[in-house]
Amino acid sequence: MARVDSLKTVFVDEIPEILEDGILYVSEECCVALHNCACGCGEEVSTPLVRTEYQLTMEGGTASIWPSIGNHDFACASHYVIEQGKILWAGRMSRGVIESGRERDRRLKRPPAPTALPSGIPEPKPLPPSANGLVQRILSWLEAIYRKFFRQ
Ligand SMILES: [Zn+2]
Repeated sequence: MARVDSLKTVFVDEIPEILEDGILYVSEECCVALHNCACGCGEEVSTPLVRTEYQLTMEGGTASIWPSIGNHDFACASHYVIEQGKILWAGRMSRGVIESGRERDRRLKRPPAPTALPSGIPEPKPLPPSANGLVQRILSWLEAIYRKFFRQ
């Protein structure tokens, strides 16, 4: 199998059993796009077209898929971007980039954590008894001064 540098987009209702090299099968019904790895290794690449995975844009009959296709789990570990039906080879991703990408995916897929309190409102903290006593003393001292100077 030879490496391909472009993909022809074919819209399908059902995913075919065997994928042909150089063809990007798009099933809008299944919200998925499939193609054989562009390096020619014969591995099937599935790109779910959902908000947290891949975004497919059609332009003049050619497809662009974003983000990049990173086949790290295949022996070939190929990495490329599909832009307007062309394969833009992106070189191997470093482990760190892969991991940060996966971490981002996990964050996106995880439901937001429930927030106990709206942010910006600090939880009320009861004053420790000693501080309370101090506040009381200061208040009565201020009251005493006030009485002394203004009420006499
Ligand atoms: Zn491959």
